Amino acid sequence: MYLKRLEIKGFKSFADITEINFEPGINIIVGPNGCGKSNIVDAIRWVIGEANIRNLRGQKSEDVIFNGTDDKRAQSMAQVEMLLDNSDEILPLDYSEVTMARKVFRSGESEFYINKSRVRMKDITELFTGTGLGKKGYSIIGQGELEQVLSGQALDRRLILEEASGTIKYRQQRDEVKRRLENTSNDLLRLGDIISEVRERKEELGYKAERARRYLQLNKECLGLERKVLLSELAYGQQELNRKQNKF
Ligand code: ATP
Repeated sequence: MYLKRLEIKGFKSFADITEINFEPGINIIVGPNGCGKSNIVDAIRWVIGEANIRNLRGQKSEDVIFNGTDDKRAQSMAQVEMLLDNSDEILPLDYSEVTMARKVFRSGESEFYINKSRVRMKDITELFTGTGLGKKGYSIIGQGELEQVLSGQALDRRLILEEASGTIKYRQQRDEVKRRLENTSNDLLRLGDIISEVRERKEELGYKAERARRYLQLNKECLGLERKVLLSELAYGQQELNRKQNKF
């Protein structure tokens, strides 16, 4: 995998479309101080999913949009598109060339694309995990950072080496599995609580159900008796009526 082309428009000092083609091997960009060399690196960091704008020397997400100069109007949108040669299929996609693009508008709204299809930023960061070209990798080393890496803490160096060797992906997967195991054992505990609660309620409900059954049975008997009483009262009334009619 290698960086083949970078197209920048409206990003930082690049007001007009700027296309930079890279060849396999070492490519060098030379220019005077302040001409925008680091902005090219920022554009690469940004398109591969840098979320912390401070790492791009800005304060808020709109700071990457071209702000205007004496002879050029400010832009309303910044856009960076990066073309990667993926003929060795290091990126797990069935394409020999992959484009990543990112746009940001002055409203703060961001858009991400892989091969022109709209995706989430997470899809881009996940795609790079374990390839060495992550946003937290050894692949981009900014000004002064090399010394920081060499003289840094052992743990920081380990993280960089892990990202470089691709093992960080497995560490993330292990952490994810651990988290899921923890969640599952918490769910099991909760399930145990629910089962014992249900057991207690089952006893109480059994007692209530027995009472309800008894009530229904007695109610039925009561209705039967009431019916009998009414019938015998009716028969008695009928007899009395007959008797009185015979008398007169
Ligand atoms: P150095 O060699 O000093 O590190 P450089 O060549 O790497 O410099 P950069 O730091 O990439 O240069 O670019 C700095 C230039 O980019 C400055 O002139 C700055 O005004 C300009 N710049 C940064 N952000 C924006 C923006 N949003 N709009 C317009 N210009 C910008």
